[in-house]
Amino acid sequence: MVDIAVIPGDGIGKEIIPQVCDLVTSIDPSVNFTFYNISSERYINKGITIKDSEIDELKSYNSIFFGAIGDFRVKPGIMEQGVILRLRKELDLYMNIRPAISFSRITGNNIHMTILRENKEDFYSDISGSLNEHKLFRQKGNFYNYNIDINSESDDTIYYTMGFLSRKNLKRFFNMAYKIADTETVTITDKANAVDMYSLWREIAIEESEPAGKKINFEYADSLAYNMINNPLKYRYIIAPNLYGDILSDMSSAMVGGLGYAPSGNIGDYSSMFEPVHGSAPDIAGKNIANPVASILSCIMMLKHLNQTETAGIMEKSVENVIRNGTIPIESGGNAGTHEFINKVKNYCTMTKNNI
Ligand code: ATP
Repeated sequence: MVDIAVIPGDGIGKEIIPQVCDLVTSIDPSVNFTFYNISSERYINKGITIKDSEIDELKSYNSIFFGAIGDFRVKPGIMEQGVILRLRKELDLYMNIRPAISFSRITGNNIHMTILRENKEDFYSDISGSLNEHKLFRQKGNFYNYNIDINSESDDTIYYTMGFLSRKNLKRFFNMAYKIADTETVTITDKANAVDMYSLWREIAIEESEPAGKKINFEYADSLAYNMINNPLKYRYIIAPNLYGDILSDMSSAMVGGLGYAPSGNIGDYSSMFEPVHGSAPDIAGKNIANPVASILSCIMMLKHLNQTETAGIMEKSVENVIRNGTIPIESGGNAGTHEFINKVKNYCTMTKNNI
């Protein structure tokens, strides 16, 4: 039996995720979903982001199915850092897989790329602070190079967040990335021309590529963004540091029809968590207009990761058929609401299952 913890979260996450769980159990009733109320609503009422005991419990499941977190009533960063970034850190989920694969009926193209994003380090570090007096703490360079006056007579203030990369983490990250990539050549991005620490990123990318038998192409993140738009079919796997991976994957989702089509998986050696790339989208929440495809595809990724290949295969085929046969989400100009789309997929799943 497969045991999955579910965190629907806020906004459209709360709306879509339970329906996707229903869809799964309609195909395979033995999949067990346990729901957790970890949400902005709870934070507003009780001041709790996530409890230590919940983190411990979440570690015991085969995987976590996550919706979205974020609410305009809560200061930006509190829920993101308190829940999602904390889970990635505490569960040691160092790989973030973000496929952008088009349905040709939606986009008229055949883009098929996957961004493999480092998920724990880089500029998503919580080593941060502020300075308003003359305290230099950097070993190399200093704030004066940036024309920032931090002497004690000045009223200038500095906020800083330290980006960092570590050899140990990068080794296992590249190792996993090269295993996931089923092509001989992969693209690796960074800004090694402007940010010193990416020299370690490159060193380990090269070091690990040899035993994995991979050919690698480095492309700076800015030029990659330009080339991805101009020549998207050139790319299959893009390996990216945390921050650039986040930005490029929102961009790649736009190239395949929008955030409503972008799934993701967070993987570690012991735990995993799957979630749509989009956030809680409060502007459309509760209106039955959100596109559920990203959540369905995230669920399919999760089931494949848990070796539930038959159920995953049925769902995958059904989503493809539903779209090919003209059930188009509102996000893409069609008239299928959240519920109607999921229901259509459910009907196809039942038909497919009965035909196996
Ligand atoms: P967060 O900070 O949590 O990422 P956000 O509001 O900045 O939240 P998203 O929630 O990802 O960003 O959404 C950005 C916009 O994209 C939304 O306002 C919404 O209009 C659109 N959007 C996102 N997801 C979907 C979806 N599944 N279906 C339709 N539109 C969506």
